[in-house]
Amino acid sequence: MKLKELELNVDYFEFNEKLYQKLDATPLSKPKLISFNKQACDLINLDYEECESEEFIDFINGSNVLKGSVPYSMVYAGHQFGYFVPQLGDGRAINLGAVNGWHLQTKGSGITNYSRRGDGRAVLRSSIREYIMGEAMHALGVPTTRALAIIDSDTFAHREWEQESCSIVMRMSPSWIRIGTFEFFANTDNSKENLSQLADYVIKNTYPHLENENNKYEKMFYALVDNSAELLAKWQTYGFMHGVMNTDNFSMAGLTIDYGPFAFMDYFDKNCICNHTDSEGRYSYNNQPYVARWNLMVLAQALSEIANLEKMQDYLHAFLPQHENVYLQMMNKRIGLNPKNSGNNNLDLIVELLGALQSAQMDYNVFFHRLTNLESFDDISSITDIAVFRQSIEDWFESYKKVCEKDGSTFEDRRVIMKKINPKYIIKNYMLQDAIELAHEGDYTLVNDLLNIAQNPFDEHEAFEKYAQPTPMEYANTQLSCSS
Ligand code: AMP
Ligand code: MG
Repeated sequence: MKLKELELNVDYFEFNEKLYQKLDATPLSKPKLISFNKQACDLINLDYEECESEEFIDFINGSNVLKGSVPYSMVYAGHQFGYFVPQLGDGRAINLGAVNGWHLQTKGSGITNYSRRGDGRAVLRSSIREYIMGEAMHALGVPTTRALAIIDSDTFAHREWEQESCSIVMRMSPSWIRIGTFEFFANTDNSKENLSQLADYVIKNTYPHLENENNKYEKMFYALVDNSAELLAKWQTYGFMHGVMNTDNFSMAGLTIDYGPFAFMDYFDKNCICNHTDSEGRYSYNNQPYVARWNLMVLAQALSEIANLEKMQDYLHAFLPQHENVYLQMMNKRIGLNPKNSGNNNLDLIVELLGALQSAQMDYNVFFHRLTNLESFDDISSITDIAVFRQSIEDWFESYKKVCEKDGSTFEDRRVIMKKINPKYIIKNYMLQDAIELAHEGDYTLVNDLLNIAQNPFDEHEAFEKYAQPTPMEYANTQLSCSS
């Protein structure tokens, strides 16, 4: 389809006008296309050639408003680092409407009523990070928002230490509603009506099978608990850390949203903190499932006017066991085992592995890729060679070997299982940093190469063999800041 034939549908104006703001974007000066995403084009039926046009750049920049589109920003609230903030909102994001069930939103399009002291902008580095990471997560089967395109510009914004160039990413999601949206609606006049209207909206967009059910609001909550348990299990399995799991960054659809100081863990450290601002480690790797449960508890409170709090709290007890169940299934696959064969879920073996990886100071995801390609227990040097300390890993292999014998599988059997879950490439922060540095010089090739690697992480990318190696120690497990 041509760009000008694309028709957007806005479904948010059914709400009281205090709950959103209609507004125009403030375009960036001299916008330039960095990259567009063919997979995202397919999702909205947009012809690839259209993305090379000036009109497309203007569309991302907000100066070309498509048919049916009425730009707006949404208000929400949220618990930030555990403290309630009664009013947040799309401070730099503008929604354009939906096509094919994908709600399009630009991030960095200027000041809105919800910008507070912010400038409404997103700088190049954070935009590149978000653009690539959503696609990397999707390719690993982790539910996430997606991105259609990213532009650079001659507009600058002041950040911590210098002026940085501004950028816009066009994001897409089946839903942009957050737990924080419910928290805001729960604090309005007519909260009961507003809450049921919002819950109906979420059900229509995300949980349509519940539309005609009794107690549908409680069931919506249960569905989100289920989705979130699965989401967190996937994050934990791949060593992904979100970094700012505030309730305003927690999706009502169970998706990974609002990419900020995230990281795929380099070297395994269960207490790893990727967000520089998070001095107490509230959002450390290990804490993530507990924080998700805490966030869901906040949602239960916000919904309590329209749904039964006690029932929701009861259901929430299932969150951690459910999370553990999915996590263990996935971790078994990561080591090539079928729990049915070994007669248990191999919890002890997996816990021992995490301890061994931690003691060995070993690159987490590279370990699994090398395990996938292992051909014999007599030579595990491809793995021990990347350990700083090897004893714990050697010991673990003794335990693993025994379980494999019980499992009755061959190296080949296990490889078949592992190949589907252990990618050769995981997008680490240092790789994104390489792409960002080149982009600052006007060279966007690495952004596009990383996009390709992110979308095809199980394939060979010969020119990028170095990115399949352990993260160089000097770049490992570094922390990033929120403000970008
Ligand atoms: P975050 O935790 O990064 O998702 O952001 C928290 C809140 O701050 C959200 O309401 C954002 O819209 C807002 N915000 C973050 N950066 C900016 C900015 N540069 N300008 C305006 N609002 C911002
Ligand atoms: Mg946010």
